[in-house]
Amino acid sequence: MRRDPLASDCLASDCKFTPYWWDVDGVDLAALAETGAALPERVDVAVVGGGYTGLSAALTLARAGRAVAVLDAEVPGFGCSSRNGGLVGPSLHKLGLAGLSAKYGARKADDILRESMAGLEFLFDLIARERIDCHLVRTGRFRGAISPRGYEAMARETEALKKAVGLDADMVPRAEQGAEIGSDHYHGGVVSHGDGFLQPALYAAGLAARCRLAGAGLFGQARVESVSRDGQDFDLRIGGRRLKARNVLIATNGYTGKELPGFRRRLIPLRSGMIATEPLSGDMMRSISPKNRGFSDDSRLVYYYRPSPDGRRLLFGGRAFDIADRPRAYGRDLHAGMTRIFPQLRAVAVSHVWSGVVAYTFDHAPHLGEFDGIHYAMGYCGSGVGRATYFGHKIALRILGHPQSRTAFDDLPFETRPFYNGYPWFVPFVLRWHALIDRMGR
Ligand SMILES: Cc1cc2nc3c(=O)[nH]c(=O)nc-3n(C[C@H](O)[C@H](O)[C@H](O)COP(=O)(O)OP(=O)(O)OC[C@H]3O[C@@H](n4cnc5c(N)ncnc54)[C@H](O)[C@@H]3O)c2cc1C
Repeated sequence: MRRDPLASDCLASDCKFTPYWWDVDGVDLAALAETGAALPERVDVAVVGGGYTGLSAALTLARAGRAVAVLDAEVPGFGCSSRNGGLVGPSLHKLGLAGLSAKYGARKADDILRESMAGLEFLFDLIARERIDCHLVRTGRFRGAISPRGYEAMARETEALKKAVGLDADMVPRAEQGAEIGSDHYHGGVVSHGDGFLQPALYAAGLAARCRLAGAGLFGQARVESVSRDGQDFDLRIGGRRLKARNVLIATNGYTGKELPGFRRRLIPLRSGMIATEPLSGDMMRSISPKNRGFSDDSRLVYYYRPSPDGRRLLFGGRAFDIADRPRAYGRDLHAGMTRIFPQLRAVAVSHVWSGVVAYTFDHAPHLGEFDGIHYAMGYCGSGVGRATYFGHKIALRILGHPQSRTAFDDLPFETRPFYNGYPWFVPFVLRWHALIDRMGR
């Protein structure tokens, strides 16, 4: 693969600026929805957003006999759900056990962590039950520490989580990390044995197919421009079209637009980027990930990476500094990040660069619930393959009035900040500051 001398020295001359996932396994997102089809006049539930949250909710609702329409501004799966790294884990809260206990009390902290672990098992069960072929493997994840202090903090947290909620994880000191990763960048790390990875676009396509089989309508090019009350029902405007619904679920996460200001001002959109390397030799791939594990680290910019399902490429992701989509810039930054960890990949070209917009929240927790009768589930803070699937199911149970809809996240206040309207002007500054601290190894 030749490099493009004009663009940047690490991009292949035929580098694509679309997700690697869209190029393999015959994924055709456009085929998942009816685009331009007439909408029904009325449904029981209108689901706004066709990613994992919306599709998982639609599946539960349709199986319970509800008439459901999933409306996506582009096509179902177009957002993060076909762009992510596919790494799956319990997404334990950023504050850790001690931070959670200080904020909510020990009992609530325990409930939140246990439910996060249950959410991951829900994902594995659903994929097995629905027989969704999405190259899911459960080979564990190595999370590297970028400093000795980070390693000690990781060891304390791992010990506490093993005791409190039975996390299946082991510390790996620096002297032994060669058995986990072909890099001496880290000061040791932790292996979480229950984690895995999947092909995200195949998973989205599989969920969409199950929704259609269950009777849900999936509609593309259907941007919802407004949602208003109409007696007992809601009235949705979609281009020149209208739809009445008894219930509405907002599942737009990082793509939540100005048409939903109440949700937008509670979310901080961040661009997360990924690169795929050109095919590497079998020996190189085995040296990078000897146990076919996924990876992440404790850096503030949060690098995450994994082998491709065919084991021939490294797929490497992290935060982009700007909210605007500048793939050449974040492609170059990610290549630099990758070669700091794996100097042996310095000469390797990038075949794909892409990104998506994730949604952070002010309290670092995902949220689900109801505002003025409108249901929502969102704010997965960059870690949503398992969480979105689980939250979609739980919010669907709540719409159904099911007793098992209760979650430990129900009563967490969904905060915003004064004068914040959803435009994250401060993010580039914060990320550059974080990058500096990471480079100093703090
Ligand atoms: C590059 C990248 C890497 C990631 N890696 C990982 C990972 O390895 N592991 C992990 O757990 N998580 C990862 N994530 C996060 C994860 O992908 C998301 O948290 C998850 O997919 C969110 O799903 P969702 O259904 O809530 O939102 P999305 O999949 O983003 O779907 C939202 C949808 O809403 C639609 N929409 C928006 N507004 C409207 C409207 N007004 N009307 C109709 N439709 C609308 C959009 O078109 C979009 O399709 C990553 C994300 C990115 C971008």
